[in-house]
Amino acid sequence: MHKDSKYYRILFEEAVIGLALCRMNGKLVDVNKAYADIIGLTIKQTLKLSYWDITPEKYKDEELDLLENLEKTGKYGPFEKEYIHKDGRLIPVRLSGQVVTIEGGQYIWSSVEDITASKKSERRLERLYKKLELLSFKDGLTNIANRRMFDMTLEKEWQRAQRKQTPLSLIMIDIDFFKQYNDFYGHQQGDECLKIIAKLLRKVSKRSMDLASRYGGEEFVLLLPEVSQEKVALLAEKCLSVVREEKIPHEKSRISDVVTVSAGVCTVIPAIDSPSSQLIECADELLYKAKKSGRNRFIAK
Ligand code: GH3
Ligand code: MG
Ligand code: MG
Repeated sequence: MHKDSKYYRILFEEAVIGLALCRMNGKLVDVNKAYADIIGLTIKQTLKLSYWDITPEKYKDEELDLLENLEKTGKYGPFEKEYIHKDGRLIPVRLSGQVVTIEGGQYIWSSVEDITASKKSERRLERLYKKLELLSFKDGLTNIANRRMFDMTLEKEWQRAQRKQTPLSLIMIDIDFFKQYNDFYGHQQGDECLKIIAKLLRKVSKRSMDLASRYGGEEFVLLLPEVSQEKVALLAEKCLSVVREEKIPHEKSRISDVVTVSAGVCTVIPAIDSPSSQLIECADELLYKAKKSGRNRFIAK
């Protein structure tokens, strides 16, 4: 086939990607239909404009810097930006350009792709990712923070307490005779009971830095940074009393006719080289003591 200028003109005009030639000052001198379509104009209307007319203000400084580089490298992009559509909307595009010399004059020759669709799915994925991230920190049954969230927060708060030499407290709570509860009322009712208790425990402390989480089966933890031992003891007592006062019947408990909990409470100012497991071991040990000494109580250190 003989490839004359008409042949190349057709390739230019029919390209599915937007193609534009502009002077170094931005004045558009040749565009194809795909290019004009991106901004919703005809080719004729587009050719009355400068590249800067369709570039939102916020991109201008950065692009002027790029243009300075263009003199050296001869290349522009690829990068993502937006064009101003005729109706004022911003259209996300991916653009690459280069300097070309035609009949002794320098021009910028650029190809532009409308990336609205891929941006939309990118945003959808981002939203989904955020939702999944939130879900991954929540306990599926009780809707409060899960063990994963607790482990992460404990590490962060432990390091902060080490740095600032401030107290960090942990209340470890375990439901009394919960196996008997399940055996007597059924697993489903057991689940309902866990949900109620989680909700009650979450409301015990109101500060945003405090974290109530489900630690495991029927065990919950409250992590409380920068609180005095006296205040922590009051909060532990509150944990016990809110559950008791909910008066969830428990026929098979050997110490009460309603559901009760026991707790181990530990407050430490962490030594610089001590691990966070120290706090858990301490609270766990005191919880064990609370169980041994009759349940429906807390022991604090
Ligand atoms: P203690 O007073 O010494 O704590 O006795 P306990 O019966 O509460 O302790 P144990 O550890 O023997 O039993 C815990 C029970 O918690 C066993 C299990 O059936 C129940 N459990 C753990 N996770 C779940 C859960 O997700 N749903 C339900 N319904 N029950 C659970
Ligand atoms: Mg237990
Ligand atoms: Mg128990």
